[in-house]
Amino acid sequence: MLAARVTRRWEKLPGKNTFCCDGRVMMARQKGVFYLTVALITGTCALFFGFECPYLAVHLSPAIPVFAVLLFLFVMAVLLRTSFSDPGVLPRALPEEATFIEMEIEAANGNVPAGQRPPPRIRNVEINNQIVKLKYCYTCKIFRPPRASHCSICDNCVDRFDHHCPWVGNCVGRRNYRYFYLFTLSLSLLTIYIFTFDIVHVVLRSMDSSFVNTLKETPGTVLEVLICFFTLWSVVGLTGFHTYLISMNQTTNEDIKGSWSGKNRVQNPYSHRNIIKNCCEVLCGPSYPSVLDRRGVMLEAPPATTTAPVKSTTPEPQTTKTTAPLIPNEHTPEDVKPSIDTTSDKTCPASEDEKPHLSQFPPLASPDSDTEAAPTHEVSQ
Ligand SMILES: [Zn+2]
Ligand SMILES: [Zn+2]
Repeated sequence: MLAARVTRRWEKLPGKNTFCCDGRVMMARQKGVFYLTVALITGTCALFFGFECPYLAVHLSPAIPVFAVLLFLFVMAVLLRTSFSDPGVLPRALPEEATFIEMEIEAANGNVPAGQRPPPRIRNVEINNQIVKLKYCYTCKIFRPPRASHCSICDNCVDRFDHHCPWVGNCVGRRNYRYFYLFTLSLSLLTIYIFTFDIVHVVLRSMDSSFVNTLKETPGTVLEVLICFFTLWSVVGLTGFHTYLISMNQTTNEDIKGSWSGKNRVQNPYSHRNIIKNCCEVLCGPSYPSVLDRRGVMLEAPPATTTAPVKSTTPEPQTTKTTAPLIPNEHTPEDVKPSIDTTSDKTCPASEDEKPHLSQFPPLASPDSDTEAAPTHEVSQ
């Protein structure tokens, strides 16, 4: 017998992520802007430590550089935590799941005459008395759980998708949103801090020598002031925007689409109608485990036989019906479905985002943890 080769699951994950440290670190493929973020933060702080801190420590207080170092370390820690983690990627359906769901959909829709557009693939769920639509993802072959959306850059469905942020080189979703927010908040503080003490430094030195001489002696100051000045507006503005979103328990994606306003006239079913409760839920709620099992071991058969993906020996996070019947016209067993109303909404336009391939589709594999009274809402991407 040929020995089986041990492979980690991250090596076989679809989507456009990159992994390092044997699957422990996960990021989007494009990382250029992320490197720019790191270079700007470390560069500006290095200039501050090199040019202003020695003077300020002596003439004002040694606490100034100490606090700057602590703030800098905190900013980098939450940045890397946001960038290197799984934002909440939802696993794609297994081929057999996809086939099964495809049959389920066909059975529900009946035969669509050739040339006619099939009805949109939507399921409705009720969340806090609001009807929320779950859209089918043609790429991942799943009905997206509430608030999930497909990131076209990472090519994955992400739970509680907020947005894809090139500055952190990752999607921002359920699992890393609070770190992303802490990053914008602490970066705002750091920027204000450096900007303020740059000005204080110049003013103090100018009292001893001339203003021009001061700038000549500390050439980094001008560069720092410029970087901080332009960073301030964007980062502080972004922090303010996310503070508003958190207080409303909304995502950027929902805000951009106007999911809870305008034509839809649907109230946000996730909001507690209380700013404090919303903030607590978003920032202090339970943290969710990754359902990708990136470091789980797969036993890959030696070169041979079939091209079908080999399944992991580790527990599959999806609700899988591997015994899916091959009888197309059978009625779908209810136990495979999520406890939702599967009525198709014929008035809804078909999902705009993806090109309808031949699709199949799996049970609502919702490792999603929109728990209990958790709000749900359709998110398309
Ligand atoms: Zn998807
Ligand atoms: Zn993304």
